[in-house]
Amino acid sequence: MRRPKAYPGIDAFRLVAALLVVAIHTAPLSDLSPTADFILTRVVARVAVPFFFMTSGFFLFGRCTDRRAALAAFLKKTALIYLIAIVLYLPINLYNGYFSGPNLLPRIIRDVLLDGTLYHLWYLPASMVGALIAYGFIRRFGYGRALALTAFLYVAGLLGDSYYGLAAQTPGLREAYSAWFEVSDYTRNGLFFAPIFFVMGGLLASLGSIRLPKPLYAWAGFVLSLAAMIAEGLLLSNHGLQKHDSMYLALIPCMFCLFCALLSIRGSRLPLARGASLALYIIHPMVIVLLRFVARPLGLTGLMVDNNLVHFFAVALLSLIAAGGWAWLERRWHKAHPRAVVGQERAWIEIDHEALRRNVQAISSALPHGCRIMAVVKAEAYGHGAPTIALTLEQLGVEAFAVATLEEGIRLRQSGLRGSILVLGYTHPSLTKAAHRYRLTLTVADAAHGAALDAAGYPVQAHIKVDTGMHRLGVDARDADAVTGLFALKHLRITGMYTHLCASDSLAPSDMDFTLEQIRRFDRLVKVLEKKGLRPPALHVQSSYGLLNYPQLQYDYVRVGIALYGCLSAPGDRTRLKLPLRPALSLKARVALIRMVPAGESVGYGRAFTALRDTRIALLPIGYADGYPRALSEGGGYVLLHGHAAPVIGRICMDQLMVDVTDIPEAAAGDVAVLIGQDAMARIGAADLAGNAGSIANELLSRMGRRLTWIHA
Ligand SMILES: *Cc1c(COP(=O)(O)O)cnc(C)c1O
Repeated sequence: MRRPKAYPGIDAFRLVAALLVVAIHTAPLSDLSPTADFILTRVVARVAVPFFFMTSGFFLFGRCTDRRAALAAFLKKTALIYLIAIVLYLPINLYNGYFSGPNLLPRIIRDVLLDGTLYHLWYLPASMVGALIAYGFIRRFGYGRALALTAFLYVAGLLGDSYYGLAAQTPGLREAYSAWFEVSDYTRNGLFFAPIFFVMGGLLASLGSIRLPKPLYAWAGFVLSLAAMIAEGLLLSNHGLQKHDSMYLALIPCMFCLFCALLSIRGSRLPLARGASLALYIIHPMVIVLLRFVARPLGLTGLMVDNNLVHFFAVALLSLIAAGGWAWLERRWHKAHPRAVVGQERAWIEIDHEALRRNVQAISSALPHGCRIMAVVKAEAYGHGAPTIALTLEQLGVEAFAVATLEEGIRLRQSGLRGSILVLGYTHPSLTKAAHRYRLTLTVADAAHGAALDAAGYPVQAHIKVDTGMHRLGVDARDADAVTGLFALKHLRITGMYTHLCASDSLAPSDMDFTLEQIRRFDRLVKVLEKKGLRPPALHVQSSYGLLNYPQLQYDYVRVGIALYGCLSAPGDRTRLKLPLRPALSLKARVALIRMVPAGESVGYGRAFTALRDTRIALLPIGYADGYPRALSEGGGYVLLHGHAAPVIGRICMDQLMVDVTDIPEAAAGDVAVLIGQDAMARIGAADLAGNAGSIANELLSRMGRRLTWIHA
């Protein structure tokens, strides 16, 4: 479970925003000064609903791994709330004669989808439609173009709202808008108004805290743009241009700055604010109606209803009490009905994001000036869960990523990763279109491959792979002419050049000589290219061991994989550079049951284990299909239970394995066994486990996660 980050500014402003909506519906300042009331309720308070949209966008699209699932859950929940609200307000609809007017069915369809069945309820369908449009745009086009498209929709809405006067004076537009107003009374809806705020919310979340403007600038920007919005509103209103008054030009910068400023507020969460603000929003019109009903027989109408300021406070207070009660009930209900979280999984991978953060820091501080991390996140980020890990790394400031295949790159892009993504493997030339569309950088495997990629005709970025002795992919380092030819290709834009060291993990003198020769070959090629006036912008040579054993090299990137995850490949490996790396991954499973096996009985497939004594065994619902190597079956495998080693007995099955807990009497069903990671004083490293299974940590980790859930902590 990812530890939720606290945004107390956002939490608190939810209540402020809900109270601003109450103000819109009670006009508290209208007795004092109509202008003041206009400024408060028709301009300033208009930040409230966009704020709610942005908040939804922020949590829906920003940090989330599976946006589609998050969107589905959001739509379901909002639809349910909408349904409840519609039913709640049916009596008022009845009282108003809603059902006796003409064109009932078209009216119902319009109101349910666009305008809301009662005036303030438009917010609920608008947030569903807005979320859907924003999701579609972001997914299809990325944030930049999604922002442009939704801005276009916003301007279209603006011309039917605050700026309607302009549209009404323009032939063509006038007819278009009259046609629209045949359908609906407003343009401030899910189609024109909401999408841009959802996109902005998601964008701010994906930027990560480091790239946000400084709090002082954000607050200053907010104050300035709010002042501009007030001027804009007064101007439009004085010129009689407004049909409605929800949308302003200055509202966009105003919301951006306000949200940045609120994000900068630190502290702990205000968990009640969320439920309470929504309840406040939905309930307060009911309170307005009830107050009128109750005030009349009590003779309080003059004070409680006709005095606008008192009326506002009365409505706000009563609504707050009701909403607070609602939020409290909701929390109690959630406590009594906890969702399936940790506690029910049979087996899972736990990721320690703090370890990941420290590894990024440790590696970054070891890099020479100007050199940056290219995070290798192929194979589900070595079993750590690809989109989540990549997005986390992006938030930590990593801007370059590498994957093995085009499909892996597309998936990351679709999850909202913005940094560069280099495909390290061979990509078939027929796939260049997709590479172009998802802004993926391809690897040129040799001269013919480069020509074929170019012939596809799509402008694609590529890095040239140079073979300096591994003899896998790459143009021969001595063939400078072939490399030069690649720079002349028409569609392929060469933005980098790299090679791979094949013995950098070894400190044996012959291997080190070989590695240094690889580096010399690469450098020589770079020199030849430079003489011809060519210098590719990004050069990179080292992977994890390349960095750890040759830290003195100076290139533009290091392609770190295994070190980023806090592991070495093999347990005994010594490296020249010693970094304080911490493993980020743990593998855990829950004991399903404990049973006794009498001496002489055998356990599991092939009767590979025979109990020499009366043996107490624990069954773990995890097997080789989850990535736990079957090779650990007969000896060598053990798990940690209560901080003690419990040896694996018999053969490891596809989905289960058995361990001996005779010497761990406290072991019981439901206990958590650690297969990789720390338990009390004991720890099992991925490299140790892999070593016992005759492999390396890289293989072990990259095979994990096909069937396990990831828990991010
Ligand atoms: C996988 C890979 C890496 C990362 O290697 P690690 O040893 O995990 O750091 C770097 N470069 C290339 C070409 C790779 O395929």
